[in-house]
Order: sequence, then structure tokens, then C-alpha cells
Amino acid sequence: MIEISTSTGSGPDAASLREPTRLSFDLDVDICIVGAGLAGLTVALETARLGASVAVLEGRHVGWNASGHQLGTVLPGFGLPVADVIDRVGFETTRELWSLSKEGAEFIRALATEEQIPGIDFSEGVLEVSNVDAGDRRLRMLHEDFATEVEGWQVERVRDQLRTDRYFHGIYYPKAFQIDGRRYVHGLAALARRAGVRIFEDTPVVSIDASGVRKRIVTPTARLRASHIVLAGNVHLGTPLQRLSDTLLPVWRYAGVTVPLGGRLSASIAFRGSVRDSDGIDHFRIVDGDRLMWASPETTWRMRPQRFAGAIARRIRTIFPQLGDVEIEEVFGGVTGETVHGMPQIGQLQKGLWVASGFGRQGLSTSAMAGQLIARGILWGDERWRLFSPFELVWAGGPIGRVAGQIVGLWGRGSSAAAGALARYRERVRAREKFREAKLAEANRQAGVRPAMPRRPPSERPASDPPLRPRSRPSRPQPNRPGRSGPVHPAAPPPVQLREGGRRVEPKDPTYKDPAYKDQTHMDPVPGALPQAEPARDPVRDADAAISQESEKLPSPPV
Ligand SMILES: Cc1cc2nc3c(=O)[nH]c(=O)nc-3n(C[C@H](O)[C@H](O)[C@H](O)COP(=O)(O)OP(=O)(O)OC[C@H]3O[C@@H](n4cnc5c(N)ncnc54)[C@H](O)[C@@H]3O)c2cc1C
Repeated sequence: MIEISTSTGSGPDAASLREPTRLSFDLDVDICIVGAGLAGLTVALETARLGASVAVLEGRHVGWNASGHQLGTVLPGFGLPVADVIDRVGFETTRELWSLSKEGAEFIRALATEEQIPGIDFSEGVLEVSNVDAGDRRLRMLHEDFATEVEGWQVERVRDQLRTDRYFHGIYYPKAFQIDGRRYVHGLAALARRAGVRIFEDTPVVSIDASGVRKRIVTPTARLRASHIVLAGNVHLGTPLQRLSDTLLPVWRYAGVTVPLGGRLSASIAFRGSVRDSDGIDHFRIVDGDRLMWASPETTWRMRPQRFAGAIARRIRTIFPQLGDVEIEEVFGGVTGETVHGMPQIGQLQKGLWVASGFGRQGLSTSAMAGQLIARGILWGDERWRLFSPFELVWAGGPIGRVAGQIVGLWGRGSSAAAGALARYRERVRAREKFREAKLAEANRQAGVRPAMPRRPPSERPASDPPLRPRSRPSRPQPNRPGRSGPVHPAAPPPVQLREGGRRVEPKDPTYKDPAYKDQTHMDPVPGALPQAEPARDPVRDADAAISQESEKLPSPPV
């Protein structure tokens, strides 16, 4: 099994970029960017395109962390649910933020062509599925208020595409897309270089002095001066501005790619785009025709990616049991920076000192958006980055925050699993009810009985109806039981007369009691003839027995 974590992935320019170009001389530029991940490289490309001289300083190599080890799903929006964004900043600001994130996605779409980034493997269509059977109010809002193309998929359609009972309805984004995420970051670096950006790898920034007009940046082997510094180092920024790093909760996320699964994969998953669940737990898609790429576990503690191969395989088996045991051929992962409020950190900390980080698990469109906003902020004076000002830098709690984050993550996964189990249980109960109704209807049909009409409540009766009279309810016959006191009921009425070929027949056993008797007290007499004179089968009981049998197959409800 191949194990990759925070290291260079494959890509068109990966080979050339692997040759580290350490900065070993002093340099003066307009803009110095710390970090060659998605965020740093997008700012670099955009500022260079707008005419600035730009240097990127990367401590390891391009795409070393999450940016080089992600699934490549590009969706508008943020890691924070849209309803929460509205709660925080109001509807209008949320609309503007959403539209900026769409611009971020469009920025990637424009770059993700075979001509610009060979092997980018662009395809459209992303499905967000729900783990529970509750309706989703976002659909209308996304479509009407946020001008985003979406389709609501009913549970049948979702399950037609994904053969599992784990997912219910879904929101389909026909214009969202996926790319080879690992190639993209190297393609971005190549495009930035072509635009004139100088990328220095193996060049960690150890300190910055952002006080003057010309800011100073120090690396182990060189010094730089720049008018603007952009901090795009994510959780690894460290000493240059430790307080900023401390506002991010590091969350490691891992993904695995299975061996080729052949026909059993297409029999389970017909959908060809990315699938994410609404609780942010599973995220997968088919790659290379018949392999499954699946991201699942998250942890706030760094662990060897290999340790997650089993967890990923188990998760796949939980969702698609028919796939059986799948072998994971490759595991990769990286650490994302989660902010306390769940929104990215985009803006100017002080004059000429900018930040672009905290993109969490939805970093493609949001880092592209950040790149555009900061480039335009620096070079055009565009102030739309201020829309992110309400999302301040909040200390993430250090080690205690990580423990809390782990617990919250576990709790989130646990409550999602419980909600999912409850939803599936409810679905089975509904199916059982339907089955029961169908059986009863069939039984009634066989017995030639009209289904009971629902009674109108008294208030609905038309005035012309005759007044209601209290009806004396016929007492229900009970067999006399010896040794019991109390009122003595008359003996059970004679067995129901059965007919054979129009002729009356008596049951063979005189003690015979028609099992249908109970129901026939309030049913119309059985019309027509029964084919046989032996005691009649009770369709209602048959139905009940079948239902009981079916019920026994059902697992007990979740506690
Ligand atoms: C398994 C996985 C799957 C994912 N899938 C998706 C997906 O499908 N869609 C999506 O939108 N997002 C996805 N993400 C999230 C996305 O990858 C991240 O949000 C994004 O890559 C963050 O980019 P970044 O540039 O902020 O950070 P990083 O990728 O961490 O880049 C920061 C860089 O800065 C460098 N650096 C830090 N400090 C210094 C310093 N002092 N000096 C010099 N260099 C420094 C680091 O070495 C690093 O290379 C996924 C993430 C993971 C882990």
C-alpha cells in the first residue's frame, strides 16, 4: 500500500517542481507570499497577472500539505452551513459572500482546462446527500436567492444512483465539478511561474517585521523586503506569527483509493461525480473507471495515514455492504485549519499584512476566492475582503481546543450516525405499515369487503343529516368460562355458514370456531362461494402472520 501524507503528489509539473529552488540571496519584491498551497499560489497568480512582482516562500515544497492531497471537489459556499452564515451576518451579506465563493469556483473552472493543466480530468456534477429523511429548506434558497443551479433529488433517485439505504434525498449541483485535485495545485504553480511568480521551496520563513512601509521577511538563508506580505501558511505558519497559527484548529483528514473494483463498483454506484454527505463525514467518487476514492476519518491528532486504511475500508463497507471487503491501495491526507467560527480568514491584519487561511475542508473555491479578493484588495483597492471582517481571529484553544475539537468531531459523527439510524428505522416502519395496509386491502378484496369508510367527525356532518342518536353497541360475545364470576355471556353464535357451490356446508369439527368470526361481526356477510368446504383461511390473519414474519426480520429500534 502506498502511504502519502503532506508530501508531493503526482502532477504535470511535479517533476520539475520537486527540484527545490531554495532562496539563497536577498530580494526586493512588491508582494511576498508565505506558503505554496492553494491559497498562496492563487494570490500569487492573481497578483502577478495584475502586474506585481511576486515571490512565494514555501517551507517544504509546492502542495506539500492538504493542497496536494485533496479530492478536487469544487462547490460554491463554505464549510459553515449557509443558515449559520445568515444567522451571523444577515441575509444580504451572506448572499454577497456566496456570490464571491461562486466566483472562486468559476476561477478554477477557467483554469481547469486540458490546455492549461494537462490531465486535470474535469467533470461536472456534485451530489450532496442527506443522512436523514428530513426535508431540506436550502434548496429553494440556493436556487432563488443565491442564484445557484440546484436540483432536489428524491430518495428514489438518490438510491437509483447510489445503492445504499444510508442516504435519503439529495441536492444535486449540476454546475459544481471535480478535477484531479493533486494535479491542480502543481498546475497552479506552473501557471504562476509562467505569469512571472518566483517560487522558492525549502525556504521556511522564520520571522517577519511588518511594521514599516517596506516589510522584512527572514529565512534561514536570505532576507526579503516587500510592500505586502500575505500569510498563507495555514496551520504550519508557526513563528512568523504564532498568534495567527493559534487561531486555527488543526484537523487531519485522510483519503484512500481502492484497488480496481470492476463491475461490483458500477453495480453499487452509478453516479460519476463527487458525493458528499450533509454531515461532512463521507466524501467519495469513482476515479480511473473502477476505483473508489474515499475521504472519511478526521482527527485533531496527527497519525500515520496507513492506520486509516482499515477505517476507510470499514466505512466503505458500512455504506455499501455489497462491495464487501475492499482493499485500499493508497492512503493520503493532510491537515486543514478550522477556525472557531467555521469561516475562512481573509483580510488585512494591519497595513500591508494580509492573511488567507482557515479554509477547512472546503478549500478549493474558498482559497480561489481569497486569492482574487486579496489580489484586488492590494492592487485595485477593492475592499470586498471586508465582508469577512465579522469573522474575527479567535483563539482556537491550543491543546485543549484540540481535545474539544476531537470530542465535538466524535460527537458530531455519533449524532449523525444516530440520526441516520433513526431515519432508516422510521423508513422501515413506514415500509412495514405500507405492507400491512396492502395485505389488509388484499385480504378485504379477497373477502369481498369494502374498506371501512373513514367516519366524519360530528362537526363535519351537514345540517341535513339526521340527528345522531346514541347507538347501543352490541356487546362482544365472550365464551363462558367455568369458574369465573361476572356476567355470563351467551355462547358464541353458531359457526358462520360456509357455502360450497351455492350449498350450505357445516364445518367438520363441531367445536370449530371460525377464526374470521371476530371480524365478521362487523363485516358484511361473505358473498359468493368459497371454493372449498374446509375451514376458511383467514386472509386477515394470514396478512398479520406475514407482517409479523416481516417484522421479526427488522432490527430493533436504536436506543
Ligand atoms: C483529504 C483531504 C481532502 C480534501 N478534499 C477537498 C475537496 O475535495 N474540495 C475542497 O474544496 N477542499 C478539500 N480539502 C481541503 C483543502 O485541501 C484545503 O482547505 C486547502 O488545501 C488549504 O490550502 P492552504 O493553501 O490554505 O493550506 P496548505 O495546503 O496547508 O498550504 C500551506 C503551505 O504553507 C507552507 N508554510 C506554512 N508555514 C510556512 C512558513 N513559515 N514558511 C514557509 N512556508 C510555510 C506549508 O508548508 C504549506 O505548503 C481536502 C483536504 C484534505 C486533507
